[in-house]
Amino acid sequence: MPIDSDFPKNHKVVGRHDHVDDEHFHFVWGPGRSDAESATNAEVQNAYKKRNETYVPLGVHGTMVAVDWDSCVADGACIEACPVQVFQWYRTANDIPAIEMVNATSGDEGENHDREGRKDYSDKSDPIREHDCIWCMACVSVCPPLAIKVDQSNLEFHERESRTYNESLSKGSAPPPHSH
Ligand code: SF4
Repeated sequence: MPIDSDFPKNHKVVGRHDHVDDEHFHFVWGPGRSDAESATNAEVQNAYKKRNETYVPLGVHGTMVAVDWDSCVADGACIEACPVQVFQWYRTANDIPAIEMVNATSGDEGENHDREGRKDYSDKSDPIREHDCIWCMACVSVCPPLAIKVDQSNLEFHERESRTYNESLSKGSAPPPHSH
């Protein structure tokens, strides 16, 4: 099931995934979907069972480079296709249940740009370096469930939410939001 191409309008920001560089971050949009591929994919569901983790809908990570984690089945084609390493397996940085990645901080895991680098099929492709995208669209067509939407014009949603998010956190006392 493809990512909802209108997710910034049909979903709300439910979290913010920070990069350890203290500058970049991407938003997480929810709610997630319980009827997309990863809910029924045997490899994904078996991986959750082996870990004794409960499978729950996860939502969309990223805004300009957005991955629907409920569609993502840890294929890894995007990780190999991207020429500038926008993506990484989320569990290489934080090996925790995916739902806890709604508000997490991750570092660059630069050696892990191989589809076989997934911890298991409960891993997800994380657009941790969304700000590095060069809009080549290579990731979009290689994803089997079409879980990825790349749209430079969604920067508008990212920037709008950045202001709102910081204001709601700070009640007006925070420094200006980052633009990336
Ligand atoms: S559009 Fe190209 S540069 Fe951007 S995330 Fe996809 S593969 Fe990487």
